[in-house]
Amino acid sequence: MKYDLESLRIVHYPDPCLRKKCAPVTAFDTDLAALADRMLALMMAGKGVGLAAPQVGVLERIFVMSHTCKPEDARVLVNPVIREPAGMVEAEEGCLSIPGVHVQVRRAQHCRIVAQDVSGKSFEFEAADLIARICQHETDHLNGVLILDKMGPTDRIATKSALKALEAQYRSKAGARR
Ligand code: ZN
Repeated sequence: MKYDLESLRIVHYPDPCLRKKCAPVTAFDTDLAALADRMLALMMAGKGVGLAAPQVGVLERIFVMSHTCKPEDARVLVNPVIREPAGMVEAEEGCLSIPGVHVQVRRAQHCRIVAQDVSGKSFEFEAADLIARICQHETDHLNGVLILDKMGPTDRIATKSALKALEAQYRSKAGARR
């Protein structure tokens, strides 16, 4: 087993894993399928609608999502690419790696997503609204981009103390590990 699934957990800002550009997935094996299952379980447990591999410390281009938060709507996207983004809309977003922080983010209302499944089979689909938003948010994660990079001046002020608290929490945990 390539990944230590038992010890996988959602990492929080400002963990450096969240700032890394992830490498393309090249091995479509049972380990990858097991990773996706574990990520879906963590996402559901956290009541999130999307979770990208760097959020569990794995620096590979894969994310999971379920726009309804239900298992029947779960999707796994490997090596995803956003194409033909169109129509900008602003909406509130949160992130499982930045608990307690919600900010307004402008994104394409509509786009096309090209990806592979866990067996390496290519697929693509048209996405709009929430599904398009989740795909863009998660693809950002694979490039080390967070919603914090997209917030406006009002949110910058409003989130300041919450981010400081997360930074302090990270430092004390890092200290405890030493
Ligand atoms: Zn996120």
